[in-house]
Amino acid sequence: MNIVVLVKQVPDTWSERKLSDADHTLDRDAADAVLDEINERAVEEALVLQAEHGGEVTVLSMGPDRATDAIRKALSMGADKAIHVSDPALHGSDALTTAKVLAKALATVEFDLVVAGNEATDGRAGAVPAILAELLGLPQLTHVRKVTVEGGVVKAVRETDEGVAHLEASLPAVLSVNEKINEPRYPSFKGIMAAKKKPVTTLTASDLGLGADEVGLGAAWTQVVEAAPKPPRTAGQRVEDEGDGGSKIAEYLVGQKLI
Ligand SMILES: Cc1cc2nc3c(=O)[nH]c(=O)nc-3n(C[C@H](O)[C@H](O)[C@H](O)COP(=O)(O)OP(=O)(O)OC[C@H]3O[C@@H](n4cnc5c(N)ncnc54)[C@H](O)[C@@H]3O)c2cc1C
Repeated sequence: MNIVVLVKQVPDTWSERKLSDADHTLDRDAADAVLDEINERAVEEALVLQAEHGGEVTVLSMGPDRATDAIRKALSMGADKAIHVSDPALHGSDALTTAKVLAKALATVEFDLVVAGNEATDGRAGAVPAILAELLGLPQLTHVRKVTVEGGVVKAVRETDEGVAHLEASLPAVLSVNEKINEPRYPSFKGIMAAKKKPVTTLTASDLGLGADEVGLGAAWTQVVEAAPKPPRTAGQRVEDEGDGGSKIAEYLVGQKLI
C-alpha cells in the first residue's frame, strides 16, 4: 500500500510568532521552524500502516526552501522519499490554492492513501485535507483517532467536539489524523543518517502546470486585512475567600457575561 503523508513546516509553537508588516503573511524568519507535531503523528501512522501492509511512504510538502528540514525529519523517522513543492510564486497561498497545488503534486505519484494532520498549528484552517479530497474526487475520513486498513477498505474512528463516528471507505482515500492517533517515534541516529541519502524531488508551480497568476497571495480568496500584537497579560483579579468566595466568583462571571 503506497501512502503519501502531507507535512507542513510551521513556526515552533514555543517561539514568538509574527506576521510580516508588509502583507500580513507569516514572517518565517521571525521564529524557529519545525515539522508540525500533528504531521509527525501523520508520518507515524503511515509508517505503522506500511509495516503492516508494505508499500512506500512518500512525504509531500509545499513550502519555502527551508521546509527541507521538516521533510528530512519525516524521512529520518522512516519515510522512503519526498516531494517538495517550492516556488516563490506560492508565497501567501490560501487553503484552496494549497490544496490545488498538493492535488497536482499527488498526480505525479501512485498512492492508495493520503494521510494529513487535521489542522496545522499556524494557519489552523483545518480545511486542506477536505478540500483536497473534494478536488481529487476521493472519500475523506477526517479528525481520525484510530485507523485500520483491510482488503482495500479503510476504517476509521472520527472524533470531534460533536461526538464519535465510525467511518469506512474504499481506497484510495484521504485521511486526516488528530492528536490522539499515536505517539510519534523519535528519529534514530541511523534514521537521521539514512535520511540524508533519501530522494527528494523538487517541483515548482510551473512544473505542475500552474501559472503564477493561479497561486500565491494574488490568487487567494481570503486575505488577512489587519493584524495586531497580542495584548500583554493582565494581572487578573484576586478573590479573597472569607466564606463567600463562591458567590464572589459567580458575581465576577456574571459581570463578564460568562454565565
Ligand atoms: C500567519 C499566516 C498568514 C496567512 N495569511 C494569509 C493570507 O493573507 N491570505 C490567505 O489566503 N491565506 C493566508 N494564510 C493561510 C495559509 O496560506 C494557510 O496556512 C495554508 O493555505 C494552509 O492552511 P492551513 O495551514 O491552515 O491548513 P490546515 O487545513 O489547517 O492543514 C491541515 C493539514 O493539511 C496539510 N497541509 C496544510 N498545508 C500544507 C502544505 N503547505 N504542505 C503540505 N501539507 C499541508 C497538513 O497535513 C496539515 O496538517 C496565512 C496563514 C498564516 C499562518
